[in-house]
Amino acid sequence: MAQKNIKLKKQKEGDMDAKIVMDALDVMVENPRCELEHRTPFELLIAVILSAQCTDKRVNQVTQELFKTHNTPKDFVEMSQEELEAKIHSCGFFRNKAKSIKSASWDILQRFGGEVPSNFDDLTTLAGVGRKTANVVMAVAFGGDNFAVDTHVLRVSNRLELVKTTDPNKCEFELCKIFPKNTWSKLHYQMVLFGRYTCKAMKPECEKCVFNRSCPSSRV
Ligand code: SF4
Repeated sequence: MAQKNIKLKKQKEGDMDAKIVMDALDVMVENPRCELEHRTPFELLIAVILSAQCTDKRVNQVTQELFKTHNTPKDFVEMSQEELEAKIHSCGFFRNKAKSIKSASWDILQRFGGEVPSNFDDLTTLAGVGRKTANVVMAVAFGGDNFAVDTHVLRVSNRLELVKTTDPNKCEFELCKIFPKNTWSKLHYQMVLFGRYTCKAMKPECEKCVFNRSCPSSRV
């Protein structure tokens, strides 16, 4: 991830300006993109379900093998729960994830003609699909304006005091009020990558962060 030190205009604490945040993230994360490897909306959906409490790197290792033989809703409906659990075991929470994948695959076949639905409300009716997963699928697979809030987005938003909440749904609604709609999807991935590689949970790298003169949580 490209990183440069730029000095941000000093803001009043807790008053980060949306434009400043967007400009700074453009400097810190020049090419935001989904790091979950996939070729179809269905593969993306499966990868996002597997990514709960798991790293994208691990999910990519698992799906690289899994998708060689199973990559359609029919494949997963016909696969036994036990076989699927064994294949996704290393992603953690494998029983629940296998159940969700099989149920979602069944629903997609029965209710949506075998295609991943391309609207948010239908997506959230699928097993294992909450707001975050539906927002990622909408933004990445269908080019929607969606702001998915995962653990990185939640942490970065709170550290910058863009929001003050531990509830991902409230965080999403607040961020959508702060930033223009056409930036939501890009900002989601910029914040994910910024949180993953710079504003890390345990040891944020404040000394090389563009926000370090303005961020209320800076350790510099
Ligand atoms: S200054 Fe530190 S805590 Fe603040 S956004 Fe940057 S890395 Fe995170």
